[in-house]
Amino acid sequence: MALTAAQQGEIEAARTAEGRTRRPVVPALEAMLFEAIPVLDHGFVRVIDYMGDDTAVVQAARVSYGRGTRASNEDRGLLRYLMRHRHSTPFEMCEIKYHVKLPIFVARQWIRHRTANVNEYSARYSILDREFYIPRPEHLAAQSSSNRQGRGEVLAGDEAARVLDLLRRDAAQTYDHYAEMLNEDEAGEPADPSRQGLARELARMNLTLNTYTQWYWKSDLHNLLNFLSLRADSHAQYEIRAYADAMLQTVAAWVPMSHEAFRDYRMGAVTLSSQMLAVVRRMVAGEAVSPEGSGLSKREWRELMGMLGRDG
Ligand SMILES: Cc1cc2nc3c(=O)[nH]c(=O)nc-3n(C[C@H](O)[C@H](O)[C@H](O)COP(=O)(O)OP(=O)(O)OC[C@H]3O[C@@H](n4cnc5c(N)ncnc54)[C@H](O)[C@@H]3O)c2cc1C
Repeated sequence: MALTAAQQGEIEAARTAEGRTRRPVVPALEAMLFEAIPVLDHGFVRVIDYMGDDTAVVQAARVSYGRGTRASNEDRGLLRYLMRHRHSTPFEMCEIKYHVKLPIFVARQWIRHRTANVNEYSARYSILDREFYIPRPEHLAAQSSSNRQGRGEVLAGDEAARVLDLLRRDAAQTYDHYAEMLNEDEAGEPADPSRQGLARELARMNLTLNTYTQWYWKSDLHNLLNFLSLRADSHAQYEIRAYADAMLQTVAAWVPMSHEAFRDYRMGAVTLSSQMLAVVRRMVAGEAVSPEGSGLSKREWRELMGMLGRDG
């Protein structure tokens, strides 16, 4: 994670400033505020601001005048009920804003989540840093033969070395060409006074997708949990999952009861179709159900056996 001394200084200054407020604050998240959680080789996630806490969720569900005097186990019970029954709007009362530094190919997946507010670093206005994501050897895997959207065996030996070499060289070469086309030195003056230099908005177009970009990303808790349920899931690509895992740490600090309910009723839960449920009922009643007699397709049968932790 390449934070410059100036950037680190800004973070330290922001972390020492304190103000008084009547709004609810969450000490565990206050402790993390502004600090960068490293993700991948040069990326990070850091919380910039937030509004609300677990109490805001239950308060909205009850539409009450203040924090009230209910016992926290009543709040926890209500919160778990809301999560279990997919009552979404109380969770929309909490908001969080992140600063994220991420490779462009991860940003392309992430931006599909339309319910957030996003402001990205402008590569029309500024020059992108010379930083590229290079996977660690254990993440350099072959195409999966069973899952078209997944990875299989980790590459080894000469093949792995060659792939890493290509990734590094291509990224470095296109960045060198980017810098040459821009024709700007570090002070923003022409590197070669005899050339005009290409506009930043055009010079960026040949950069590789592993180049890092940055954005501010703000979401309410309901949509953040939707994002995390998809992107912290084992089906999500490792690189975006690494960001989702870092964000889960912040959610656990911010809204511990919502986080616990989310883990129990969303991340750790499964959805059964009515046909799957019928099969489970027959099994619980002691019947030996075969794939052929289940009424499920082969794939659904495999999925159900996976959920039940049985061999297909
Ligand atoms: C493992 C995985 C693989 C994927 N593969 C592909 C792929 O191959 N190709 C591809 O294109 N995408 C792919 N996606 C992206 C996926 O299809 C969704 O676009 C993305 O996950 C955003 O999800 P979302 O719509 O729930 O989120 P959000 O955009 O945040 O939306 C949240 C909810 O708000 C509502 N909503 C938001 N905007 C609208 C709208 N305009 N109209 C109606 N309702 C709206 C919907 O109920 C939606 O579920 C993949 C995602 C994952 C997790």
